[in-house]
Amino acid sequence: PPFHPCDEAVIATNDDASDCKRSAVRLGYWKDEYIGYFVRNQDRKAPEINRGYFARVKGVEMCVEKFLKKTNDKCQIINLGCGFDTLYWRLRDTSHNVTNFLELDFPTVTARKCYMIKRNKTLLGRIHVEDGEVRLSPTDLHAPNYHIMGVDLRNIEEVENKLQQAEVDFKMPTILLAECVLVYIEPQNSQNLLKWLARRFESAVLVNYEQVNMNDRFGEVMLSNLRARGCSLAGVDACKSLDTQISRFLECGWHGCRAWDMVQVYQSLLPSERQRIERIEMLDETELLTQLFQHYCLVIAWVGELFQDIEITVE
Ligand code: SAM
Repeated sequence: PPFHPCDEAVIATNDDASDCKRSAVRLGYWKDEYIGYFVRNQDRKAPEINRGYFARVKGVEMCVEKFLKKTNDKCQIINLGCGFDTLYWRLRDTSHNVTNFLELDFPTVTARKCYMIKRNKTLLGRIHVEDGEVRLSPTDLHAPNYHIMGVDLRNIEEVENKLQQAEVDFKMPTILLAECVLVYIEPQNSQNLLKWLARRFESAVLVNYEQVNMNDRFGEVMLSNLRARGCSLAGVDACKSLDTQISRFLECGWHGCRAWDMVQVYQSLLPSERQRIERIEMLDETELLTQLFQHYCLVIAWVGELFQDIEITVE
């Protein structure tokens, strides 16, 4: 379908995120055997970017881990604006076996993801099928417990249709991930989506990683860099502060919500892991990194009781 020119720029943000993840993985910040299949680019990013992505990926992973532990894997994972994220395969390499795993993004993005999976024996071969099969269309993939689907998240009816196609159980505990996605969506549309999700799921947690404290000088520079690439950043109003992040979820009917900036999230990671990655690339000057960390956050909202005692500390 024809896209608004802004959508093209938003779609391109996925290439950027994937390149950055690949850069950090190549240097050994964390293990991901799969990201390299989706990204050709071998650029090395600045140490601050690599560390920033480390905190981002580990922060999200920490939430997923806690959720899987709480639910004993009897749960669903829904990755909103998934891009080329590889969590599905990374989890396949652990003992976790979640009930259902869904990924949604614009059809242009899911088509590329499906195409790359189709051509790649490792990616395709590690999709769990038991006695089912993997069905592929140009934009969608359906396996017994893994689904990739092309959809515009601004279109709730279409989102609901896709979730039904993937046999989502609205009563089953569900963790929704939105990693740098909501900021690109117009407030009216993201509010509709967040309200609908809060109403539709009985027991759900949404993990939102995105910009925060965008009103200061550093934030303004970050935004103008993104805008220079053609992104409209329509949803940036909710990124003013941790409080605006929290209230947007509460106003949309989520029962509770907590938010941390990435300085706090980074501090909560295992000290031994932090020491390990801090040795990969030395930083003489940590001011830029701290500023970056102050301008991103991890927000956790929930409906139901599963996550009301959530802490970001490692267990
Ligand atoms: N979550 C992935 C990650 O962190 O690696 C990708 C992040 S990328 C910055 C943002 C993603 O959100 C893109 O893949 C983009 O296509 C997707 N996205 C933004 N607005 C969307 C919409 N209205 N419908 C579907 N996907 C959308």
